[in-house]
Amino acid sequence: MAGYPSVNWWPRNLRPYESALSFVARFCALNGVPARAGTAFLGVEPRHLGFASDDDVARVSSLLGEDPARLADVLQHALDFRQCGTYAPPAAYSQGPSVRYCAACAQQGYHSYLHEVPWLTKCPIHLTALTTVPANRTGNIGERRLGAFKRLMQGHCAAWPHFAPDGFPTREPGALLTLAAWVRDACDASKRMQAGELWRSEAGTHRGAVTMTQALGQLHTLTPLPTELEPLLADRGGAWVVHQARFPRAVSRELARLGERGLRFDSLFAFYKDSGDTSEGSPAWYCQAVQQQIRQRHGTCGCRWERVKAGFGEFCWIQIPPDELGEASRQCPFEVALQDLELDWGSRGRALPSRLAQQEMYRFLKESHAMRDAGVLSYKEGAQVSPDGYLYLMQRVWPCCEWIWDSPLLGLFRTAARWEIDSEHRAITRWLDDIEAGSPPSHRQDPVYCVRLRSDEQGASLLHWRSADHRGRG
Ligand SMILES: [Zn+2]
Ligand SMILES: [Zn+2]
Repeated sequence: MAGYPSVNWWPRNLRPYESALSFVARFCALNGVPARAGTAFLGVEPRHLGFASDDDVARVSSLLGEDPARLADVLQHALDFRQCGTYAPPAAYSQGPSVRYCAACAQQGYHSYLHEVPWLTKCPIHLTALTTVPANRTGNIGERRLGAFKRLMQGHCAAWPHFAPDGFPTREPGALLTLAAWVRDACDASKRMQAGELWRSEAGTHRGAVTMTQALGQLHTLTPLPTELEPLLADRGGAWVVHQARFPRAVSRELARLGERGLRFDSLFAFYKDSGDTSEGSPAWYCQAVQQQIRQRHGTCGCRWERVKAGFGEFCWIQIPPDELGEASRQCPFEVALQDLELDWGSRGRALPSRLAQQEMYRFLKESHAMRDAGVLSYKEGAQVSPDGYLYLMQRVWPCCEWIWDSPLLGLFRTAARWEIDSEHRAITRWLDDIEAGSPPSHRQDPVYCVRLRSDEQGASLLHWRSADHRGRG
């Protein structure tokens, strides 16, 4: 906008929690320039509004003389769960080709980025439902949203691009203050939970993503949601509970010793799981007990679904014709669940298809050197070992190795594995419940990050998050 004598903007023209969309649209309207020229002048990309860098904030602040703190709120969506790290709700909402807004706010010329976050279903100022309108048809997504937004605001507020007199936020703060305080407290609590975290579980064939229900349920457990906010939140789901098991200081000392040798918990744990421990209390032993429960629930097969190969390594589910019900050796949902458990927790090297097994073996062989040097595994009698003490490749390497059973980490590994299997069992139970209730077998999406390891001054502790629903059902 070089050549313009001055810019029509004034300090604190931005309102608290105003959306970047609203800011850019009002800037363009106040200066009588099209969206493309306005965004080029401000140097913000309309497709990525709300995710500006600190440098962008400083630059726009000096261009417009706007309060940098307020600009940071608007351009970076300050009221947000980003600080929650792995406890945050699913990542940034898609800036899809639509605009979500509150009609009461729009009548005051106001639009907030909170109107478009996926974890809220109502306007936090008016506590009313939000409306979605499609974006314009031409331009990139940012320009299309800007176009739709301008039309929308002009239709609701005669004063726009100015605010209606006495509009937000001079009145009606609604639940905003409470909401801002809760988000801040939830972020602080999440940070405390993640302090000293060494590992979190991502195990399983059907690893999903953190869902809105899981994230909001966990945050609610860490920082109880004020009652007045309950109607605002999307998909709060049921309560989540967290259990903790503490381990003696010898465990955290051992983890630190191995960490100094470059051996992280996840590779040690993976080795332990691969090592073929089937003794009482081992993951394989516990997996068998869970498989037994699933078999008992199954009884004689009366399943109406069968999984069949669909080519290219894919599978699909088909309905079994009524006259073929009860025939043995089908890939029914129960059989598939039992196989999944076997793949995840049975003797891994044997259960995997051969190509994967080969890759796993190379990985293991490489790491076994470091583990042997660190004294956490030994070679069994009969293993072929090179003069410098390493396993030869031309043999089945897994059966050659043995975890050192007096390692202080054994109890930690067994508890972590047991909890991971519990999480998988609960996901399987929900999946089978849904199928029995009449749903076709969907792709299972097991929750992630349900088991976490942290270390603090007192030693190491494991955390197990689980939904309080389905208690007693797996
Ligand atoms: Zn509103
Ligand atoms: Zn069956």
